[in-house]
Amino acid sequence: MNTCKYCSSKLSFVGQDKVKKQNHFYCGLCDLTFSQKDICIDRARKPLVPESIDELAYINKNTKELLKEDTITLLHYLKTCRAEWYKMFELLNQLYDKRHETDVRETYRNLHSEYESTTKKRFILENILAERLATVPEKITNDYISEMILGAESHQDKKMYIYINGKHRKGGQHAKIKKSAV
Ligand SMILES: [Zn+2]
Repeated sequence: MNTCKYCSSKLSFVGQDKVKKQNHFYCGLCDLTFSQKDICIDRARKPLVPESIDELAYINKNTKELLKEDTITLLHYLKTCRAEWYKMFELLNQLYDKRHETDVRETYRNLHSEYESTTKKRFILENILAERLATVPEKITNDYISEMILGAESHQDKKMYIYINGKHRKGGQHAKIKKSAV
């Protein structure tokens, strides 16, 4: 059964779009339409922990693509991006006094332009994460990410059943859920 990732109601099939050939589904309670990749099965929650992460992939992703990434992937990206940013910052400082010398000028200019685009990428990642988490840690440690993953796994493992006297209701009409959720 296809269910809603927010409220767990049964979704109805809307149709397939002609361009991407993707199936779309509708939740009556949330009044939202979802594409195939955003639906859940049998009241499971949407997985929050990615199976694998390429920590440098952010370099070639624009804002639109980064907005579609899950939060844990974004945290990994920001951790790497900040480390790269700091390396460039240090190197620019070392070269600063020699920046007008013939054999340094070109290197300095290229590095400066890379530094600018990395700084903007850092801003983008920090601001998307701030929208999701309401805060962004000053330092993203492996321990911080591990704790986030543990929390995400424990959340996503809880199926969305509505319990009454220890039994969960079958069926998925939102009207029933509304009634039983009182
Ligand atoms: Zn819903």
